[in-house]
Amino acid sequence: MNIEFAERMNHVQKSFIREILKITENPDVISFAGGLPNPDSFPIKAIQQASEKVLADYGSSVLQYSSTEGYLPLREYIAERYYQRFGLSVEADEILITSGSQQALDLIGKILLNKGDQVVLERPGYLGAIQAFSIFEPEFQSVALNDDGIDLNQLADTLKVHNPKLFYTLPNFHNPSGVTYSAENREKIAERLKQHQTILIEDDPYSELRFIGEDLPPIKKFLGDQSIMLGSFSKIVAPAMRLGWICAQGELMEKLIIAKQAADLHTNYYSQRIVHQFLTDNDLENHIEKIRQMYKQKRESMVAMIEKYFPKEIKSTQPEGGMFLWVTLPEGMSSLELFDLAAKENVAFVPGDPFYVNGENVNTLRLNYTNSSEAMIEEGIKRLAKVIKQMLNH
Ligand code: PMP
Repeated sequence: MNIEFAERMNHVQKSFIREILKITENPDVISFAGGLPNPDSFPIKAIQQASEKVLADYGSSVLQYSSTEGYLPLREYIAERYYQRFGLSVEADEILITSGSQQALDLIGKILLNKGDQVVLERPGYLGAIQAFSIFEPEFQSVALNDDGIDLNQLADTLKVHNPKLFYTLPNFHNPSGVTYSAENREKIAERLKQHQTILIEDDPYSELRFIGEDLPPIKKFLGDQSIMLGSFSKIVAPAMRLGWICAQGELMEKLIIAKQAADLHTNYYSQRIVHQFLTDNDLENHIEKIRQMYKQKRESMVAMIEKYFPKEIKSTQPEGGMFLWVTLPEGMSSLELFDLAAKENVAFVPGDPFYVNGENVNTLRLNYTNSSEAMIEEGIKRLAKVIKQMLNH
């Protein structure tokens, strides 16, 4: 049968990372490839208690259909936490619960993007956002990331020349690069965007995972309704719950609710009730602090092992939180080639290529440190150092 697929599918690739993860199913492979939270961080017992409680006390309602916007007390909790963390005044009505923040990207694409619209991303950019937006056939423009955030001159030029609909950013512990935007960079971005109609998407699944330094204000603090913020329980409770949210105002929220209704009526209500019960009966701050300590140690171990084993010409970022570290190989060295050699030594990472919208053969790569023990981090970095040295000597 000759199936005529919709044209929009011509522009979307299978996630490269999901393909790589197949290689890592081999138990001999040490994988720094996935973006998985450490399973030891999952509050299994507390989730079990919360789910038993909601079933016992509210069984008939938690298994019923519910509102598109999401469970009101959960939305109130999220709004209150924005206020506590950043002094950001947000109403519960400005929060829409989504099936992970990944669905938020799809809904935003649906309500805002026509074929050929301009979308700005960071270079490198989050692969999942590239994939989600690609369905709507936009044209991507990318702006370089520096150590302290987006390159402001390039951003100003891109805004002027392309008048983009959306600018998608990840200001905290960026995936893949680990970069965090400085407070000054955030304010300047808001200043630049105010002169245009471009809507900012601030994707923020990682900011709670800060293990060094202080929280920084979201760009929304300086930009107001022109920013849509995305959040997620995936990294602070558990990704399988598939709970994320969108914080947006006015007409944007109205349209998002319609798109959400059309997509799946509402997010898994049982899962919303379990997570809300978990948040009510447990000290979230305490729980997150344990995750921060766990990830801090793993990050320190990976940074130390890189210093010990990698040749000096290899550069890497030193993130203050989150889950990833970004490595830059010497100019001209291909991370895809390194990936093939590394696979033979049973160590995996994500080559930088899929994080660039104009796929080049790049010399960068992403390492995840949250899902390996310290012994595995040492052994994996040692194996990687061996193949890097082999490539350098050729
Ligand atoms: N945005 C970013 C930047 C991410 O790294 C991820 C998870 N890899 C997501 C969104 C999707 O997260 P969720 O589980 O909330 O859908």
